[in-house]
Amino acid sequence: MIHYALTCEKTHRFDGWFASSDAFESQRDSGQVHCAVCGSLQVDRALMAPAVTAREPALQSSEKTALEQLRDHIETSSDYVGLRFAEEARAMHEGRSESRAIYGEARPDDARALIEDGVPIAPLPFIPKRQTN
Ligand SMILES: [Zn+2]
Repeated sequence: MIHYALTCEKTHRFDGWFASSDAFESQRDSGQVHCAVCGSLQVDRALMAPAVTAREPALQSSEKTALEQLRDHIETSSDYVGLRFAEEARAMHEGRSESRAIYGEARPDDARALIEDGVPIAPLPFIPKRQTN
């Protein structure tokens, strides 16, 4: 026996048990399957909710979208300074350069030195698109 979640044209939901998929179709087509709520003969199998395994890629793609949105925001609202990041960040912190939003790449020891000197920097959760070496 196969269990089917069924629905009528008024979207009432009910359950049915059939010997096979073919048995369901032949019984329905001959008017033996009717809605348990309103008696309608316009009955079909209900669309099933996505399985749990199908949801995980969707979740990953929405996380990726959020990351892409963050990237877009940073790239449109900040100046990319590439490998001059440490130098630029320090110059702004010390008032030698006009303060603005920047992003770029810094060597780990440069980044550590900036943090130790109290320069407000944060690592990006992605690799900048435009790399200049
Ligand atoms: Zn119905």
